[in-house]
Amino acid sequence: MELIRIPRIIHQTSREHLLRSKSIGFVPTMGTLHEGHLSLVRMSKKENDVTVVSIFVNPKQFGPSEDFCKYPRDIGGDTAKLEDAGVDILFLPDDSLMYPEGSSTHVEVEELSDRLCGFFRPGHFRGVATVVVKLFNIVIPVRAYFGQKDFQQTVIIKRLVKELDMGIDVVVCPTLREEDGLAMSSRNLYLSVEERKAATVIYRTLVEASSAVKNGIIEVEKIKDIMLGMLRSEPLVKEVQYCSAFDTGTLIEPERIKGEALLAIALQIGNTRLIDNMVVTTENGGR
Ligand code: AMP
Repeated sequence: MELIRIPRIIHQTSREHLLRSKSIGFVPTMGTLHEGHLSLVRMSKKENDVTVVSIFVNPKQFGPSEDFCKYPRDIGGDTAKLEDAGVDILFLPDDSLMYPEGSSTHVEVEELSDRLCGFFRPGHFRGVATVVVKLFNIVIPVRAYFGQKDFQQTVIIKRLVKELDMGIDVVVCPTLREEDGLAMSSRNLYLSVEERKAATVIYRTLVEASSAVKNGIIEVEKIKDIMLGMLRSEPLVKEVQYCSAFDTGTLIEPERIKGEALLAIALQIGNTRLIDNMVVTTENGGR
């Protein structure tokens, strides 16, 4: 595996691969890699000649009171996992190369960025959109791989790729879970033993809401009540930021589910913010 730290160099390397008609698959991450990340890598390896993974804890997507400084970092462990997985290039840029002094350009996907997580994390998706466009321009992938775990992120990235005519295929991969259903996440490392147990309420709630929908409950207020009831029954859940059903394209909460919907949850357990989601389809497919 080649380790590259300088954007100009990886850009040059990618251009050489493209000139030789090699397809580049790209997996952007913030590191502290788990099986969820590695599933994206495996998908990229299956579909491309060259797989590039980036590890960059992007300061621009963290709010002032968020966990940028204490976000877990494990470059040694990550490098070993990526070597094992057969990654071709690891891109590991410094903040100063990604955002030189005086950088003033941002990418903003309006409206979608203000909903769900965006409402509670102002500026977060502007930071995500900006870094993703920069990374895409540096790496020049044909395909880029993202997890469904961050559903809103995938909607925003698909939108910006389309509207900025970037011509990159955005591939969304299923959420990988621990045995008890908790979605794998680098932030799970923050949880104490009790909090880790309590966190399983998120998956249980999604499963319950999803079977309610399959059993014909399509009024979103009712679905929300079921979800809130379950989440609030767990004493370690400190704050439920949102839990409801949303349109998978607009991320707006409808009155009733017609066809496909996103069941999504964001909450705080102790000081840790966790998110998860599931896509459901009504029995009649919305007809
Ligand atoms: P992160 O390092 O948290 O920025 O995540 C990098 C990529 O891995 C994003 O596209 C995430 O959606 C994806 N990812 C994170 N957790 C999971 C998971 N449990 N299953 C599948 N993909 C994931």
